[in-house]
Amino acid sequence: MTTLPSTQNPADGSPLTPVEATDVAALPKMVERARAAQKQWSSQSLPARVEAARALARALLAGREAATALLSEETGRGPTECLMSELVGAVDFADAAVRAAKKALAPERIKLSAVNYPGKRAVVELLPRGVIAIIAPWNYPLGNFMKSLFPALLSGNAVILKPSEHTPRSGAWLAEIAGQVFPKDLVQVVQGGGDVASALLDAEIDAVVFTGSVSTGRKVAVRCAEKLIPCSVELGGKDAAIVLGDADLERTSMGVAQWGLHNAGQNCAAIERVYVEESIADDFVARLGKIADALRVAPGDSPTELGPLQNEAQLKIVEAHVADALERGATLVAGGKPTGTGLGYRPTVLDRCTHQMRVMTEETFGPVIAIQRVKDADEAVRLANDSRYGLNGSVWTRDVERGEALARQLEVGISLVNNHAITGILAETPWTGVKDTGTGVASSRHAYSTFTRPHTVFVDRSSKPDPWWFPANEDLATLGDTLVARASGSFGALFKLAGLAGKRVKAIQELARRAATS
Ligand code: NAD
Repeated sequence: MTTLPSTQNPADGSPLTPVEATDVAALPKMVERARAAQKQWSSQSLPARVEAARALARALLAGREAATALLSEETGRGPTECLMSELVGAVDFADAAVRAAKKALAPERIKLSAVNYPGKRAVVELLPRGVIAIIAPWNYPLGNFMKSLFPALLSGNAVILKPSEHTPRSGAWLAEIAGQVFPKDLVQVVQGGGDVASALLDAEIDAVVFTGSVSTGRKVAVRCAEKLIPCSVELGGKDAAIVLGDADLERTSMGVAQWGLHNAGQNCAAIERVYVEESIADDFVARLGKIADALRVAPGDSPTELGPLQNEAQLKIVEAHVADALERGATLVAGGKPTGTGLGYRPTVLDRCTHQMRVMTEETFGPVIAIQRVKDADEAVRLANDSRYGLNGSVWTRDVERGEALARQLEVGISLVNNHAITGILAETPWTGVKDTGTGVASSRHAYSTFTRPHTVFVDRSSKPDPWWFPANEDLATLGDTLVARASGSFGALFKLAGLAGKRVKAIQELARRAATS
């Protein structure tokens, strides 16, 4: 048996009940059971699945005390913060996921020309893929699952959850609650690190939703390509915010602090870089530093606004990025050091950063906002786009039209004006990026290609053979010419040639009839 690395509360080092990894030999049978459950589940109507999805959201809220206790001990964040960021929105989120599902899953009747395809009809429907593996990181141990769990189940799939080895308990709780609402084995959980996750990829699953680092995401994408199964990979970020000279500095500094430091910056769409116009830079930097200094970090501060880093490796990255920036000439405005308890790190603001510093180019994933001063908006956009990542990007300005035009120039999946990352809680907008952030799409009807496959049903009521079937004859050649003429809009001469009268469509049908019967 392998014990997972999550053995201490990162806030204060207090011991946690150990969690064992799943034996990889058990995976094929788990997938088999999931597949059997999925067959039954997919035969239920969409309204029945919708009812179950809503029941799950209600059950998650009903169990919030247990959930926030688990989230809090695994991540070190305060219970209120866990409740607000990962549970409160469950019912709204489920309702929006249901709306997206109804749109995405509606069968599409294909319009067929009665001339070319008499007596025929076609419909395209989306069928569930089967068993979906959802592999998640540790930063939002419940929230990262929600985006994919609802659409996967609504479209008729079974799901196997693989929580991060750093936060195994919250995912287990989610599977337990889902087990009370959905048929047995429809939602299961597998515990472990990379070895268990890669064994899961090989256990005859039908699709994968992966959220995590770029290096692991690449491996997952390669393995799925070899197995010819679809995968959605949502990877790292290095989000930029552009603060223009006319920005409302009070709101902007609060907004940048919120989206840079929320969850101690352990958010794929955290604002990690800020490009601020020189004209207002002093004022903006001073305000941001003041906000960061006043934030309360767990444990010790109450109520807390930020938790600690979730694991030691992440704390080391944060320390290395800050040290590198200071060595290369950045100015420390706030924070810049551990709290001294557990894995806590003071909210940090660095001014006068450049792209020669790791803090501007590599994902930090910690409570650090790095600021670069720029001469104008063009320079800001150029620097914002000078990144291997592209998840969210925002422009902060009082001139909303100009802000929108600039935000559209950002090479990202989500462009915002005067806000950042907020669409992560909306189930009807696609959460997606470009470049190394990966090709995955979570949420919205655009996510359904991972969860479903298109299936076409074509029905022919004709009693006659189709006009182009064997044997060929002269009428078929005339029909061909007539169809070409119809497509290019010059009919008259051909109708005369064919000696046919009446409406154009009728004439073509007559030709088709003659080609088919003579
Ligand atoms: P990670 O890549 O180390 O791990 C993610 C998951 O992959 C874990 O469950 C892990 O056990 C599993 N895993 C490890 N090796 C594997 C393998 N060979 N095959 C399959 N799965 C394997 O990432 P992390 O450190 O847990 O998470 C942090 C990263 O996640 C950051 O880069 C962050 O930006 C990213 N993230 C992205 C989004 C997004 O929506 N784009 C959201 C949240 C987090």
